[in-house]
Amino acid sequence: MNRTFDLVKTAYTLAQMQPCQEPQVALAGRSNVGKSSLINCLAGRKALAKVSSTPGKTQSVNYFRIEPGGYTLVDLPGYGYARRSQEERTRWGKLIERYLTGNPGLKAVAVLLDVRVSPQQNDLELVGWLRHQGIPILPVLTKCDKVNQRDQAARQREWRDLLGGAATPLCFSSVTRQGRDALWDALDHCAAQ
Ligand code: GDP
Repeated sequence: MNRTFDLVKTAYTLAQMQPCQEPQVALAGRSNVGKSSLINCLAGRKALAKVSSTPGKTQSVNYFRIEPGGYTLVDLPGYGYARRSQEERTRWGKLIERYLTGNPGLKAVAVLLDVRVSPQQNDLELVGWLRHQGIPILPVLTKCDKVNQRDQAARQREWRDLLGGAATPLCFSSVTRQGRDALWDALDHCAAQ
């Protein structure tokens, strides 16, 4: 299916973030997890979202309108960048919390997890917080071209168990496009709930 994928808004401050009633699925993950690459791969474009060599640079919330489907994909700023100042981390926390708690149309959060990295404290905190709020989680393992099938499957099981068996992570690579169709189906499905 050909989808249009348009950047309709970028918010840099709390004041620029208005609650949105329309269906939305958010994308979250640690800095450098491959979120910009995944967005560009989904969109089939090279530079819709910036792929940065300096992780943790952008601290904005980007809204992409998806048609057909009539929903918005919301790109949240990456977390966990070690060299970020305390002030920036606090700002990140406020932006994310405002977004995640103030949006009646939020259907799910796709949590991006690097397949090569064991579960990190901040990933577990985000997942725990989402579960506590009752927000559905769509776990996605990124950079799956970098590991073999066995390691992929092991990481999938590890996350499935950590998520209480509620969801098995989808395996994705923006290099080989592995999982691209399955991810689109899962996003459409979440948005239609
Ligand atoms: P972001 O900070 O989460 O937006 O991550 P980026 O999309 O900027 O990617 C961070 C780095 O990982 C870049 O050097 C990308 O080229 C690389 N990368 C992202 N996705 C993949 C992938 O699926 N496979 C491989 N091998 N590298 C990836």
